Amino acid sequence: MERITSKVLGYDVDLLSFDDAINLVLEKMHKSEGMQIVTINPEIIEMAKQSKMLDSVLNNAELVVPDGSGIELALKLKGIQQERIPGIDFAKELINSCAMFQYPVALIGAKEDVIQTTTRRLQSEFQGLNICYNRNGYFSNNKEDEIIQELANTNPKFVLIALGAPKQEIFITKCRKIMPNTIFIGVGGSFDVWAGVVERAPEFFQIMRAEWLYRTIKQPERIKRIYKTLPMFLFKVIIEAIKENGLFVSKSKEK
Ligand code: UDP
Repeated sequence: MERITSKVLGYDVDLLSFDDAINLVLEKMHKSEGMQIVTINPEIIEMAKQSKMLDSVLNNAELVVPDGSGIELALKLKGIQQERIPGIDFAKELINSCAMFQYPVALIGAKEDVIQTTTRRLQSEFQGLNICYNRNGYFSNNKEDEIIQELANTNPKFVLIALGAPKQEIFITKCRKIMPNTIFIGVGGSFDVWAGVVERAPEFFQIMRAEWLYRTIKQPERIKRIYKTLPMFLFKVIIEAIKENGLFVSKSKEK
């Protein structure tokens, strides 16, 4: 299947429905082809502008799903209606598919009690789910190679990494060097939600596209992150949309 994408501040975002995105990943799984799934949001884009490594991850990921409301808005400003694909829901649906096809799943990230509770809860939610490897996300850099080797030895089909961005995306790049046929996704704080340690935003906030606002109210330490990236992101996407829609051109024509 050929990718249909649109650029947001220089990065490709895949334009497809939730179901088509799931089918695309499943097709890869069945063929034992590897891929990196990035759930893109304004924060990752701003980080990528500062980090060559992350910039390269975004440019080489096989699937970039529009996670944040900011991305949905950026596309809307270009006249593109694209449904949001929340990474947490997308990853869960893929776990469900893995349980159905009996594909082994691995989980890395979050605190020890969180990863253990997440593993237990997923196994009771999805009958027959094979979690072949799990590990908390607190390890030193010099342990990375050993962990990646341990992970590879368990032959997972699908690996979820919850170390927060951009740490998880960069860790995935390292994993892929020795596991080219595995599907990877970075899932940020999803394990905390699945373990019941962090609450998902109520439906009202989800419908209003304001999960980020709920998370900020609950975790005020996030304010700094949002205030550092969101206004600049919005300003840049508005300028990008105006340039692409040719408003500057038509104004100069009027003179
Ligand atoms: N985390 C980790 N190792 C680290 C730093 C963070 O496992 O060295 C985990 C942390 O416990 C949390 C997740 O990574 O479960 C990051 O969650 P956050 O909500 O900050 O990520 P976001 O969704 O904003 O990318």
